[in-house]
Amino acid sequence: MLPTADRALGAALAQLRRDNGWTLEQQAGICAIPAPPFREQARAADYRRRLAEFGIDALRIDSVGNVIGVRRGSGRGPLVVLSAHLDTVFPDGTDVTVRRDTTGGRVVLRGPGIGDDCRGLATVLAVVRAMHEARVRTGGDVLVVGTVGEEGAGNLRGVRALFEGEYKGRIGYFISVDGTGFGATSGAVGSHRYRVTYSGPGGHSYGAFGMPNPMHAMGRAIATIADFTVPADPRTTFSVSVVKGGTSVNSIPAEAAFEIDMRSESTAALTALDARFRAAIEGALRAERARWPDSRVPLAMRLDTIGLRPAGTQPDSAHIVRVAVETARHLGFPITPIASSTDANVPIALGIPAITLDAAGRGRGAHSLDESYEDGPNGWLGPQWVALVVATLAGVAR
Ligand SMILES: [Zn+2]
Repeated sequence: MLPTADRALGAALAQLRRDNGWTLEQQAGICAIPAPPFREQARAADYRRRLAEFGIDALRIDSVGNVIGVRRGSGRGPLVVLSAHLDTVFPDGTDVTVRRDTTGGRVVLRGPGIGDDCRGLATVLAVVRAMHEARVRTGGDVLVVGTVGEEGAGNLRGVRALFEGEYKGRIGYFISVDGTGFGATSGAVGSHRYRVTYSGPGGHSYGAFGMPNPMHAMGRAIATIADFTVPADPRTTFSVSVVKGGTSVNSIPAEAAFEIDMRSESTAALTALDARFRAAIEGALRAERARWPDSRVPLAMRLDTIGLRPAGTQPDSAHIVRVAVETARHLGFPITPIASSTDANVPIALGIPAITLDAAGRGRGAHSLDESYEDGPNGWLGPQWVALVVATLAGVAR
């Protein structure tokens, strides 16, 4: 099943190990360019320039800001997407200086985003370079993509555009390289994220007493949500994560708002949880109004969607999952794919085979300013794994 006898591919794998230092340099270089949510342009332009040296056709920035280009195959094989995400969770103005220390012979890179997902971007770049220089000829084309909007409020807008645009219906396999360590994600944890705002006129806490209180309505909603029971399998979760409201201790607030994150691997379970959440926030509104039957003061509620990510599963017997597992075993590390929330959610929910691969090494502190990446004794295994998976899925031309 694996094209390990292909000499060009063997040469590419050897280069990925030999040129491990180059991969790490790219990782640090990419990460020193900021890519805040919705402001990925500078990193996209830089990533496009890096890719331009390695035989990518029609390399461009698409309408939503993804970097995209094609590595041509022989024309006989499925179209395979090889991608990593450009965006970070860090706002504009974050110091993204990358620091490098090599104490004890171990390379450690430090900087916001160094693992998530500069490691993935560097791995994709290294794989493209090695396949180009070793003249690996795949059957299918490989669509190389740096996506925007993977994190948080980005709501997967880059990868959504990819599957809705000119490549709609043409993509055979989707690979995202995202994460450090040795593992793969084959299931899509869906999420529903909302902001709920209760509002009224507000007033003096003593003088205006006797009217519905937006903060109390919010408290009722949260108390109901806190008592939800959810299935352990499929794993389904909920968290009220942010609360806001109020201006002073002696005022009935005019506004109170909370944000909630609900997740599940199962679309049905997530839909059911969503319905209970909606009932809870409506019920809280009614209960707070009913608490003050003599008040003519209005109490309103608004529901805003922060993000909706689709859920989905793939069986372990799916070709793309078996390829990921068997290539990892071939390289000497066993993996058991898990479910998570990544760019692969979009294709998985569409029924298009997709996988998210970790890029080896050891990452710490993802989404924090103290993020670090330690390459360890065998960080090159990540790029090798990705190259093997790409070549196996696209097929190697004879
Ligand atoms: Zn990521």
